[in-house]
Amino acid sequence: MAERDRHRAKHGALRDRLRVDPGTAVDLEHFDPGETYGRERVEAALELSEGLERLTALQDRIWAEARHAVLVVLQGIDAAGKDGTIRHVMTAFNPMGCPVTSFKVPTDEELAHDYLWRVHRRTPARGEIAIFNRSHYEDVLVVRVHELVPRDAWEKRYEQINAWEHQLADEGTTIVKFFLAIDQDEQRARLQDRVDDPTRRWKFRSADLAERARWHDYRKAFEDALSRCSTSWAPWYLVPSNHKWFRNLAVADILGDVLEDLHAEYPAGEAGIEGTVVR
Ligand code: ADP
Repeated sequence: MAERDRHRAKHGALRDRLRVDPGTAVDLEHFDPGETYGRERVEAALELSEGLERLTALQDRIWAEARHAVLVVLQGIDAAGKDGTIRHVMTAFNPMGCPVTSFKVPTDEELAHDYLWRVHRRTPARGEIAIFNRSHYEDVLVVRVHELVPRDAWEKRYEQINAWEHQLADEGTTIVKFFLAIDQDEQRARLQDRVDDPTRRWKFRSADLAERARWHDYRKAFEDALSRCSTSWAPWYLVPSNHKWFRNLAVADILGDVLEDLHAEYPAGEAGIEGTVVR
């Protein structure tokens, strides 16, 4: 039996455990980011490699079929592991069909448009699996915490985001959103690593410390985004991410289940071509 099936039989599918059911109020203060749901690190390595093989095979069909578009959103506080997830999980995908966008502080041109403009331009075409490293959710996270727009402007955005995601989903885009949860202590350790390791120091900015000091404001903002924007058409998955190995495993497993449900098939090819001998 594959490692995944063994766990599934015993503990249930991670997709069902980690999904934020629409309408649920998420409480991050009492959520344990160190949870591993009965997994052990050593077996997890095998389970992850099986999971990555599954993703590779599924993406190949989705790309060939060019019928479904898939949007994967990654959010989390600084050092939660968004980059690491891309490196360790999305590596399963052929880069040809997997555009990655990292959303930074908006440029003047982006700010001159509505906040969804820059995001909509990066949504996946049919056949693609697009990865958002940060996303339109920054417009109810950093923007809210730093009061970059007045409250009545960001308050409206939860509904706007739900409506926009609904429209995308209606038009054939499958949306999967992962929130990578770590605790304050884990963030401290990871930021310290960045300072101490010369090969990773470039990732650290002193502004990260000011952001860290706003931990509780961010927690409130994350809770609202998760509670108000987990919908049947674009669910959030709340992933305990203190353990990188569990985070990778969970994202690969859930993504695999979501892609499998698309039932992508290789196109049949031109009529009458079967049996053709190429000379
Ligand atoms: P990383 O994503 O690796 O942390 P950076 O260090 O360049 O990359 O950080 C990107 C920064 O851009 C973050 O501080 C994030 O909050 C900010 N940002 C992203 N989107 C927006 C937005 N819509 N408005 C303001 N700041 C934003």
